[in-house]
Amino acid sequence: MKKHQTPMLDQLESGEWPGFITGIKRLRDHHSDPRIREATNDLLGQLEHSYETIKGYWKGGTVSVFGYGGGIIPRFSEIGHLFPKSKEFHTLRVQPPAGNYYTTDCLRQLANSWEKWGSGLVTFHGQTGNIMFIGATTENTQRFFDKINDYGFDLGGAGPCVRTAQSCVGSGRCEQSCTNEHDIHRSLVNNFLDEMHRPALPYKFKFKVSGCPNDCMNAIERADFAVIGTWRDEMQVDQQMVREYVADKGRKYLVDNVITRCPTRALSLNDDDTLSVDNRNCVRCMHCLNVMPKALSPGNDRGISVLIGGKRTLKIGDRFGTVIVPFMKVETEADYERLVELAEEVIDFFAENALEHERIGEMIERIGLANFLDALNIEMDPNMIVHPRESSYVRTDNWEQEAAKWTERKNSSDANAA
Ligand code: SF4
Repeated sequence: MKKHQTPMLDQLESGEWPGFITGIKRLRDHHSDPRIREATNDLLGQLEHSYETIKGYWKGGTVSVFGYGGGIIPRFSEIGHLFPKSKEFHTLRVQPPAGNYYTTDCLRQLANSWEKWGSGLVTFHGQTGNIMFIGATTENTQRFFDKINDYGFDLGGAGPCVRTAQSCVGSGRCEQSCTNEHDIHRSLVNNFLDEMHRPALPYKFKFKVSGCPNDCMNAIERADFAVIGTWRDEMQVDQQMVREYVADKGRKYLVDNVITRCPTRALSLNDDDTLSVDNRNCVRCMHCLNVMPKALSPGNDRGISVLIGGKRTLKIGDRFGTVIVPFMKVETEADYERLVELAEEVIDFFAENALEHERIGEMIERIGLANFLDALNIEMDPNMIVHPRESSYVRTDNWEQEAAKWTERKNSSDANAA
């Protein structure tokens, strides 16, 4: 095999961090399978050619596996005659397990299957949340899929459909977790597999589940349907641990780094080195809990908030999700059903009312939040806010009647909870 010269790509390896070029070269130079060595050699050749001509040469097309309408990103080379071994280099999007937990055996199994049928290049995980298997021929796409499907993996979403969901690492490794992220993730995905594999929505629709308001999944910024674990009673404070923290770091450190950094001034340090929390004013920013995880923990009455409409820049700029359900418990089977039903209603409304290539956040902006809530039969609640510490978006004309209704609802739900 004659190696392509790659002077421009070589420069990408000169920085401080290992680059993807080094990884591809490793496959080209050291892999035992000549098919992979040749494919990665031609891939590097095409990439170098792209840098020389400042032009991309991958074009799309239609590649699929039986029964599926999405999940594969087709890549055909326009200069396949120059680099024949990489002329078909499709990417398979494969859904990771909830919370991205793998055993090493499972990772080996995936890697072995991919080296048999693909190029050996994998990304754990792409921005979409999928495992990206990069570089299969049209023929081998089906073979690789059949193999991994046999041991339990499925394709993710691509195109205008429900996309691969993501959930954070969860309570297995994180003490801030307020809900069962992985169960919620699985319940939502399993219910919408049809919508994921057969793109029929106006545009993409993403679920992301974060177990606490730290929102490690960036659900608020990036998910059309964000589920965030939270609590509604008082934060738990272990005063002994607070005292130990003060003894270790000093009062000044605690005041400078925790008390004064609370965005709502809900914390105060008492003379006896204990901490008082004004829970009504805590907006769950998580700062104090992150700094003092041994002393502070979320409350015991835990559940989730649901936010709709987060997305990155498109037509109307970046948007955070808007709270449409301030708090709901997700513990019993009925709770899970309620959550899935809500998601179904949201997706049905989105499918019927969004314009082509319009995310749900943009649709709500266009038709108005009041109409959206009305269609979903969701009663407005003063706890629904667009940003923390700003006015709720509930209208204040006829406010007394609305406030009375809300208080009545709250009292009855408190009575039920008790
Ligand atoms: Fe203040 Fe944030 Fe701690 Fe709440 S979580 S008390 S808002 S620092």
